[in-house]
Amino acid sequence: MVSQVQEIKEKLDIIEVVGNRITLERSGKNFRSTCPFHSEKTPSFFVSPELQRFICFGCGRKGDVLSFIQEYDRLTFPETIQTAAEMAGIELNQDWKDPKEQERQKLFAIMELAQKYYSYLLTEHASGKAAREYLKKRSVQSTTIRQFGLGAAPDKWDGLVNYLTKKKNYHPNDVVNAGLAIQGKKGVYDRFRGRVMFPLHDHRGRVVGFSGRVLDPDAKEAKYINTPETDVYHKRYLLFGYWQNLDAIREKESVIVTEGELDVLSSTQAHVRNIVAIKGSALTEEQIRIMARTVKTIYLALDADSAGIKATRRAIELVQPFPVSLRVIPLKGGKDPDELAKSDPKAWREMIKQHTSAFEYVLDTTLAQQDMSTAQGQKTVTNTMLELLLTIDHAVERAFYLKQLAEKLGIPESIIEEQWQATQKKHTQSQLQQHRQPTPDSSEQAEEESGTSDTLGEYLLQILLRLPLPANTRLNPEWITELRLRRILEHLLEWQQDYKSFELAPFTAHLPDELQETVSTLYIADFPVEQKMMDRELRVTLTQLEQRWRKKRLAEISGALGQLENKDELTEAEEQEFLALQKELQRLTTLG
Ligand code: ATP
Ligand code: MN
Repeated sequence: MVSQVQEIKEKLDIIEVVGNRITLERSGKNFRSTCPFHSEKTPSFFVSPELQRFICFGCGRKGDVLSFIQEYDRLTFPETIQTAAEMAGIELNQDWKDPKEQERQKLFAIMELAQKYYSYLLTEHASGKAAREYLKKRSVQSTTIRQFGLGAAPDKWDGLVNYLTKKKNYHPNDVVNAGLAIQGKKGVYDRFRGRVMFPLHDHRGRVVGFSGRVLDPDAKEAKYINTPETDVYHKRYLLFGYWQNLDAIREKESVIVTEGELDVLSSTQAHVRNIVAIKGSALTEEQIRIMARTVKTIYLALDADSAGIKATRRAIELVQPFPVSLRVIPLKGGKDPDELAKSDPKAWREMIKQHTSAFEYVLDTTLAQQDMSTAQGQKTVTNTMLELLLTIDHAVERAFYLKQLAEKLGIPESIIEEQWQATQKKHTQSQLQQHRQPTPDSSEQAEEESGTSDTLGEYLLQILLRLPLPANTRLNPEWITELRLRRILEHLLEWQQDYKSFELAPFTAHLPDELQETVSTLYIADFPVEQKMMDRELRVTLTQLEQRWRKKRLAEISGALGQLENKDELTEAEEQEFLALQKELQRLTTLG
């Protein structure tokens, strides 16, 4: 049903509908009038053709074409739908229950059809020949192809779109919402073209997305592309292979985490089946949470480059709250698990047994990078490792690693211990000294604590709705104190990351209703900055926001740390808190 509501909304033009009832006049990109819902002399009622929404800055009424009809014609919601459907020339059929869930069900249905379509092309159809040959070249067996439901996207612009819209009668927008097609100027077209297709399943086995790999090794396009975030696909939860290999993962109570799809396929063929891939991105807390439900041990088998080591350090921090142990399988010879499993399956199985603790792995790689015959080298290693130790919660675990550090450095444990104490203390004190802030003045504090009004945050969003955020801009949603604005920002960041571009209308349409309201209010409101000054305005606003946030956070932290410091003895919980605060303080002060 929601699709029909959607359909109705798309057929109707709010300017036309409103314009039939009241007189509108153009005002820049928008239309304006005196408000039909309250009496006023100067017009403060605006309608945006771009957003297909209206707002009155006098009485605060706002909404889309349907809410306008409902309000103006004084109808109930079902009556509104009835009326609007007639205006749009659409015949209503089903009744509507939980619209969000129905929408999701539709996406699941589309993903399943797409998976069958791609799979058919790969296994049966002439157009899948190149993909078949590619997989053969990479030694992917036909049982594996079936087990993982691999497919082939045809090398054309409308293969899947035609199938889903012409044969299966889905609306092109549905295919776009599923992340399988892209809205172009002249219609929608297939996102995945001329690629081997890897369906991505959620932990319940439903296809929620795809990744597609190019066939041509010299192709200029990205080697892999993925479905963007949709109502059913959330990248940070996804573990490729988890569902197919869940029985093995359960049985072994452990899981090997690799970078890529092919690592999982080849390893599975080499009878190492407790394996998943995080698809080249950083391991997330959500992924750890999923795995931690079934396993006791997570083995990282990531590239041994500096990114891999950084990811390992980060993973050590992330696993702290979970009852799992984190180990590393060092990949020898610069090969990835795909190559290892193919070139010598037996050696790969042996290599898996040679795992070390993540801490020890970081220690070993750090040791290898330094000249240990010098005091400077020893000092660097010690400092790096003690810093990592600050992130480890459990005292016994810390003690174990301190001992290990001492052994590997060949330095008496008492000295390392002494340095550890000194590190902790020095760290805290220097940072406290540096950053103990006067309490922010009370009016500012009141505004921030109420969390209801954040003028600066509002200003930032007004800019970002008019100027796409440049790549790699440092911006933390936490800088925004008003929750609603912060959520919009989070959506916006996610959107830009997935689409690498920004268009107001589709972005707004994808937001939850309550946020759509806010966005249209922000956008429709007059904004005093000229387009060419927007860039500068953005930079200034970001700086202000960050400074405000940092000042506030540092004040909070130093206050809390100060209190803890004044106590003669700390409980275990207080000690934990102390460490956590120290950690945050360190992060804040190393930001730049
Ligand atoms: P292959 O063996 O197919 O060449 P790989 O796993 O060796 O792939 P890497 O470059 O090591 O390739 O990337 C690791 C993983 O990161 C890939 O398997 C894929 O999931 C993901 N990935 C690689 N390139 C991209 C990209 N351009 N965009 C998104 N994800 C990518
Ligand atoms: Mn590879």
